[in-house]
Amino acid sequence: MEVIRKKDEMRRIVERAKARGGTVGVVPTMGYFHDGHLELMRRAVSDCDLVVVTLFVNPAQFAPGEDLASYPRDFERDSLLAGEVGVDYLFAPEVEEMYPGVSSTAVEVRELSRVMCGLFRPTHFTGVATVVAKLFNIVPAQKAYFGQKDAQQLAIIRRMASDLDFPVQVIGVATVREPDGLAMSSRNSYLEPGEREQAPALFRSLQRAGELIESGERDSAAVSAAMVEVVAAYGLVNLEYIAICDNIFLQPLMELSGVVLIAVAARVGRTRLIDNVVFDIE
Ligand code: AMP
Repeated sequence: MEVIRKKDEMRRIVERAKARGGTVGVVPTMGYFHDGHLELMRRAVSDCDLVVVTLFVNPAQFAPGEDLASYPRDFERDSLLAGEVGVDYLFAPEVEEMYPGVSSTAVEVRELSRVMCGLFRPTHFTGVATVVAKLFNIVPAQKAYFGQKDAQQLAIIRRMASDLDFPVQVIGVATVREPDGLAMSSRNSYLEPGEREQAPALFRSLQRAGELIESGERDSAAVSAAMVEVVAAYGLVNLEYIAICDNIFLQPLMELSGVVLIAVAARVGRTRLIDNVVFDIE
């Protein structure tokens, strides 16, 4: 696996592979790989002739006071892991390479960025959409892989690619979990031992929602109330929101039917955790 630091070189490599008739896949990440990242990479490796993983801790998606400076990093380990799963190129630019000088352009996926996590992180998704648009131009792959773990991000990237006519197929990959149900996340490394024990509360609440839906409950207020009750049993877990909405426009649903996204966000100590499950309801 080769590490690429420059945008021009990266684009040339991808253009050359495509000119030879190859299918190129891109997996955007912020590094500190866990099995969720590796699952995206494995999927890309099995689908594509050439796979580029991007590793860039994007300052534009962190608000002042968030964890940009302390975000976990381990470049050596990341490059070994990506190489082991068969990734061809790791694109790891410096901040100055991605954002030289003053940048006055941003990509805002309006409605979808203003709900759910957007209420708590109002500038976050514009930072994400802008850097992903740049990455789609630097790595003009035919396929791009994103985790369902970040359901709102996935919906926003799908909409952006569609609205702005990026010729890329956006592929969502199922959430990879720890044995106790906690969704894998680089930020799980912030959790103190007692917090780590309680962190599966989010998934427990989603499982409770699943049980209720299974037993015929279709009232979203009832499902939401039952989820709040589950989380309330975990003293260290402070709920931020529960969203029950459609999976494309992220609009709240009163009645559960069709494809329904149930998402939850909470703070556990200084760590912000998110999780979700998509239910296909008759
Ligand atoms: P990040 O490095 O956290 O920005 O994540 C990079 C990509 O990996 C994003 O598309 C995430 O949605 C995805 N991802 C993160 N955690 C998981 C997980 N537990 N399972 C599947 N995909 C994940």
